[in-house]
Amino acid sequence: MNNFYRSIFAGVLLLLFTGSALADNNNFNSLLWMQASAEYKANTTQAYNTALRNINAALRDRKWTAAKEQVGNYSSLPPAIVMDIDETVLDNSRYMGKVVFENGEWNAVTWNEWVALQSATAVPGAVEFIKAMREKNVRVIFISNRECRRGGNPGTGSCQEAGTIENLAKVGVAGVLPEDILLLGEEDGWTSEKKSRREYISKKYRIVMLFGDDLGDFLPDVKSNITPEERDRLVSENSNNWGRKWFVLPNPTYGSWLNILRDPKSQYILKY
Ligand SMILES: [Mg+2]
Repeated sequence: MNNFYRSIFAGVLLLLFTGSALADNNNFNSLLWMQASAEYKANTTQAYNTALRNINAALRDRKWTAAKEQVGNYSSLPPAIVMDIDETVLDNSRYMGKVVFENGEWNAVTWNEWVALQSATAVPGAVEFIKAMREKNVRVIFISNRECRRGGNPGTGSCQEAGTIENLAKVGVAGVLPEDILLLGEEDGWTSEKKSRREYISKKYRIVMLFGDDLGDFLPDVKSNITPEERDRLVSENSNNWGRKWFVLPNPTYGSWLNILRDPKSQYILKY
């Protein structure tokens, strides 16, 4: 084999190897769906369009609340919607793309680098929806597990609030106030479980709608020590809320749906 053919042969081998290593990554098809399918965009647009059609009914009805944590007399409180950020408003699939290409896993250091880049794009439909809410004087409040720990993040030593506000501005959500972004660790008791932050908001606002890509964005205590069957039952029990008060965005790449599964995960695949 002369040098020319040898280098072609090596190139083809490399391509085959890289291609199969990529396809071996657990997230390959999930990520491909998020980035290359029209169906992903249709799903997110559907969620936000449905919310927009329901908002007037939610505003009119002073007894309407979307939060299980909302108690007491809330009918005279100003209305707010509560949104998760990642894979709800901001699309981080290019961070995941890098992870897949490098056959790696999510970690706090590379994630912090990505947040600092402020390069996340918008989930289709989200920005237009937020603008419509602002025009109606509905407060938009974000509850995110991006971190801002008192005394600095262990591991990364930074607060992700400013980078997140900048990134939101870049996609068209300008002027988000720091007080309207409630991050993980910002106050005592603000753990990755979002219940305490919904409680905090519910004292000042009537929460009319919730938006997220994880069951934990809607319900308390569903992110660990729970079976898929119990989570499934909770979705059925709250059937009336989906598409009316609760709007779920598709995310097949990560989430508590995956974290709660025991190894080997193949045990959850049904066959005939
Ligand atoms: Mg999320």
